[in-house]
Amino acid sequence: MRISLLGPPGSGKGIYAEKLGKDFRVPVISVGNILREEVENKTEIGKKIENSMKKGNLVPDELVLKLVNDRAGKKEDIIFDGFPRTIKQINVDIDLIVSLTCSDKVCIKRIKDRRICEKCNKIYNILTLKPKKKGICDVCGGKLVSRNDQGEDVIKDRLRIFRKETLPVIEYFKKKGNLDEINAERSVDDIYLDIRKLFKPKK
Ligand code: AMP
Repeated sequence: MRISLLGPPGSGKGIYAEKLGKDFRVPVISVGNILREEVENKTEIGKKIENSMKKGNLVPDELVLKLVNDRAGKKEDIIFDGFPRTIKQINVDIDLIVSLTCSDKVCIKRIKDRRICEKCNKIYNILTLKPKKKGICDVCGGKLVSRNDQGEDVIKDRLRIFRKETLPVIEYFKKKGNLDEINAERSVDDIYLDIRKLFKPKK
């Protein structure tokens, strides 16, 4: 099954995509992580997108579609994190969309409290999803850092872009009938239990 997690920034897409991928041993395609790696590795693509990512803007559809198609191929089971984010990106087979709903207030607070491992990208929250040792990743021992798109102005811009570009995608799949909405303002465990029930691997 190809399942996609969509929702405003801070709704938890990355956390649940990572959990599903690990529990079901299914590849996760996190466009945000792939793009951040391009920036960190200072590739040609990375240099082109660095500025707009820092500002919280979306990167061009053609680039995202190429990166996704290269990785997705014909795989039957995939978890997409944050894709498709625009109407133009609805160009890849997906069986089910999970739409995580969350108020702006909660999203902003969560993003401010979010930390990620600079080595393996694992996501933490300084209040609700703490590492065992402060500032250190449980999995790989990497340093936990804030992302460079976590400032309040950038978060507000990202929420605005979500409404303009991604809500129409959610509406599209809702009308098509292959979308489930999940209230993402609850605890990580409760939300994940509901998402797990929806994912049915083909293999
Ligand atoms: P995320 O890690 O999902 O919060 O995404 C971080 C940033 O990566 C976004 O603010 C965008 O700049 C970029 N990005 C992630 N997914 C997409 C996408 N599907 N289309 C365009 N840009 C994306």
